[in-house]
Amino acid sequence: MENILIIEDEKDIAEAIEYNLKKESFKIFKAYDGRKGLKLACDKIPDLIVLDLMLPGLDGLEVCKILKKEPKTSNIPIVMLTAKGGEVDKVLGLELGADDYITKPFSMRELIARIKTILKRCAAKKIEFKPVIKFADLEIDTEKHIVRVLSKPIELTAKEFALLRYLAENKERVYSREILLDSVWGIDVAIETRTVDVHVRRLREKLGKASRHIRTLRGVGYKFV
Ligand code: CA
Repeated sequence: MENILIIEDEKDIAEAIEYNLKKESFKIFKAYDGRKGLKLACDKIPDLIVLDLMLPGLDGLEVCKILKKEPKTSNIPIVMLTAKGGEVDKVLGLELGADDYITKPFSMRELIARIKTILKRCAAKKIEFKPVIKFADLEIDTEKHIVRVLSKPIELTAKEFALLRYLAENKERVYSREILLDSVWGIDVAIETRTVDVHVRRLREKLGKASRHIRTLRGVGYKFV
């Protein structure tokens, strides 16, 4: 069941939206002004926000701007409600990061259809985001920090993991030892470039057959293929 936050100062409209969304099995939070809406958005992290443009105190545009800036809430889709049909409002709303807008008066059926479309789009996006980098014989789980070769987990040190991840995320790009040192070990650390070779050698030993993904370019550096 998805949660939807309605921020709308006109109580009859807010209640009508609530009634209709509840019938569609959504769970509803409601706020009648911008500040309370913001607070609820941060506390509850709803799946979608229906946000009225004209609100007392903090208006819908301000609320939208703040929500889209805050990392915690920036991914929550927002449908703006506006009483004004003017193009400026529409563009402004979308430029601020609102995902859709609907002009009052609107039909509940249309609002619900839009909400469902956006939620479906978001669900598809969530599936697309893969924290696991996969190849035929090699899997790098960047969230759990696990590497598997032919489905068998192998143990890597933090640096070996970071090195493998860096190369794999930038597949086909050639990196010199100096650049790898800067990117994986950090610029301020004084280590010899030979360190990179030592790590690559150990990494290859551990990866076994999957070590063919790391290619040496003589006199240049390494790349992931
Ligand atoms: Ca209003």
